[in-house]
Formats: sequence, C-alpha cells, structure tokens
Amino acid sequence: MKTDPVCGMAVDPAKAAAKVEYAGQVYYFCSEACHKAFTANLRKYAGAVPRGPRESR
Ligand SMILES: [Zn+2]
Repeated sequence: MKTDPVCGMAVDPAKAAAKVEYAGQVYYFCSEACHKAFTANLRKYAGAVPRGPRESR
C-alpha cells in the first residue's frame, strides 16, 4: 500500500485512481480530486511527505 500524499489515505497502487511520478518518486491517489490537488501544489505536497521505507518497483 502507498499513502495518498493529499488526504493521507492508504492507496493500493493497483487500484489507485491516478498516479504521478515526481522527483524520482511515484505518488498514488485515491481519487482524481486528490490527483488534481497534488499537481496544483506539487511542492507543498511532495515536500510535506515524510520519507517512507524505500520501495523500488
Ligand atoms: Zn486522496
């Protein structure tokens, strides 16, 4: 499971509504609304996400 950086929900990458690759990381979103909020505030959200365990896939 991944964490939606906008709402904090756990998101299953296989069922994510959207995903964004940014600064070498892939972010998954529970909904298109979260996706839009993220892309509108990339720095805010990407900067606010604490580094989780590294997952490379
Ligand atoms: Zn969300």
